[in-house]
Amino acid sequence: MIDERQISEIVKKVISGMDSASSSKPKQIGVFGTMEEAIDACNKAYAVFRNYNKEQRENIIKEIRKLTHAEAETMAKMAVEETKMGNVYHKILKHHLVADKTPGTEDLETRALSGDRGLTLVEMAPYGIIGAITPSTNPSCTVICNSIGMLAAGNGVLFNPHPHAKRVSTYAVDLVNRAVLAAGGPENIVATVANPTMDTSNTMVHHPSVKMLVATGGPGVVKMLLSSGKKAIGAGAGNPPVVVDDTADIQKAAKDIIDGCTFDNNLPCIAEKECFVMNNVADELIRGMQKNGAYLINAAQVRALEDVVLVEAPAKSPSEKPKRVINKNWVGRDAKKILAQIGIDAGDDIRCIICETEFSQAFVQTELMMPILPIVRCDTFEETVEMAVKAEHGNRHSAHLHSKNVDHMTAYAKAVCTTIFVKNAPSYAGIGFNSEGHTTFTIAGPTGEGITSARSFTRQRRCVLVDNLSII
Ligand code: NAD
Repeated sequence: MIDERQISEIVKKVISGMDSASSSKPKQIGVFGTMEEAIDACNKAYAVFRNYNKEQRENIIKEIRKLTHAEAETMAKMAVEETKMGNVYHKILKHHLVADKTPGTEDLETRALSGDRGLTLVEMAPYGIIGAITPSTNPSCTVICNSIGMLAAGNGVLFNPHPHAKRVSTYAVDLVNRAVLAAGGPENIVATVANPTMDTSNTMVHHPSVKMLVATGGPGVVKMLLSSGKKAIGAGAGNPPVVVDDTADIQKAAKDIIDGCTFDNNLPCIAEKECFVMNNVADELIRGMQKNGAYLINAAQVRALEDVVLVEAPAKSPSEKPKRVINKNWVGRDAKKILAQIGIDAGDDIRCIICETEFSQAFVQTELMMPILPIVRCDTFEETVEMAVKAEHGNRHSAHLHSKNVDHMTAYAKAVCTTIFVKNAPSYAGIGFNSEGHTTFTIAGPTGEGITSARSFTRQRRCVLVDNLSII
């Protein structure tokens, strides 16, 4: 006979077995229950990391690059599964790009001024602990890209990732920590919370240990960080126009535009979002796009599509006019699936939806982040530029051109005044993909750092020695 005491012992054992079974799930390094715990852990790690020299930091970055290459496919699949956005193959490419082309410590430069009165050095020093907010559109890529640049500059990093991409973002934080440990560094130098919210973001932003803030996302988060009273880098929204003039190689332009517009299903903030073309080459351009996986819809189908991909935003005040905004359910989805919503059964080769529209049409004016490209015909080159500048909405983010006329290149670049201006290539050439130049997933237009890298996350410090050490 088993008595009550024995039964209670058995129950306790079973429960503790269950506990240890659940705790046997591998713990992610740097991922905490609360933001306060994450800050505390990052502070402790920073006390050690602060004394690391460039070589030690570079060894850590080498390990991050290695693990990012090795786990690119895992993260790409995880991101698509979790966010339901984007394209696995393109996300794999994005991870390899981050691993290969995000600058490390070589980006930091010391300036020396030597003369009759001695030697002055201006060095790029760490800020301390940086609080970074990351988007759902490029979740793990942004975490890894920011980590490489911020650690190269000698900082610790706290992340408050987008809640809809928390699984893959925390995976990336763990990956960075595994790399740091493999290189003999302190764990938790990059830290985050398992469940990011507006509250955890608030705690991070206002904590005295956090000396610099970096926002990669839409206008809401950039505005919030810029009004925090701390040094902040804002990488905000875009609505990149692409212009095609009648000197361009039209067949190449058609392919390049569809390649750029459909990359990761149009999630990149730099991707072509609307096209302005000179009338005399418009038909040829559209035919070229159709040959490259674009499906042309008519005016009635455009109206039907508006009802699918746009929704009415609730008015914030009784005086506010109703406004249509993007339906987030369709952001980053496949063109074929979007077309099915308006009763079109497209083939597997279809990767983009194109349509001819007026300048004022919603697809031109709204940053859809879907493989939908509205095309507006213009009579002159001057008109394409005028419309492109208006459609960019002063974001000063990205703009693209297909032309062989250098005067056109100059005139458009001056008028649109964007951080990135790509000519005769898909938009992704602007972040170093199949082009010269380093990459970033934090393009800071509003605050002017541009294509951010390690040096963006530093503060300038001057070291002066008077009347000495000038050896000439
Ligand atoms: P989002 O703005 O919805 O979210 C970005 C992050 O900010 C998330 O972590 C979110 O939780 C947080 N957030 C949003 N509003 C906030 C607020 N008021 N206070 C505090 N936190 C807030 O962006 P998303 O949908 O993930 O990404 C798409 C947007 O980001 C697009 O507009 C795109 O152009 C932009 N983006 C820009 C860059 C760039 O480098 N400039 C890069 C990627 C994405």
